[in-house]
Amino acid sequence: MHPLEILEFPDPRLRTIAIPVKNITDEIAKFTEKLLFTMYDAAGIGLAATQVNFHQRIIAVDISETKNEPLILINPIIIEGAGEIESEEGCLSVPGFYEPVKRFSEIKLEAISVDGESFSLEASELLGICIQHEIDHLDGKLFVDYVSKTKRQLIRKKLKKANASRSGSK
Ligand code: ZN
Repeated sequence: MHPLEILEFPDPRLRTIAIPVKNITDEIAKFTEKLLFTMYDAAGIGLAATQVNFHQRIIAVDISETKNEPLILINPIIIEGAGEIESEEGCLSVPGFYEPVKRFSEIKLEAISVDGESFSLEASELLGICIQHEIDHLDGKLFVDYVSKTKRQLIRKKLKKANASRSGSK
């Protein structure tokens, strides 16, 4: 299996709002495997379909240190959020940058598994933060949207430069 290409900020495709998955077809099931593979390959703890240019509501998460607790959430919806937690976030689509972001400290969500089962889940700390971060991607949002405009422009500039020098050296 080859990893899928991960889009990088400020790629406008990252701003696409993903549509709900209607049916969990074989194609969708296969996609979830590729999404997980790509996430592990990039050493990330979460990856949203949007980041690999597939615009349906699917996220992959694995916050375990052993990297063997994959969680696939299809059509995830946060139905309750409480408290506040701030932590440094990073993103595979914004490589090399880490900024403090405030999130709910506890969330309750509903989602569908790859087997088509609806389930609810309570998540806090890192898992909760990661899920909120990934769901943001499905809505075309990035963690850099939470930082100041000046900082966001600086990140954009630096990433553009890095991308230009990378493609120039190919
Ligand atoms: Zn991200």
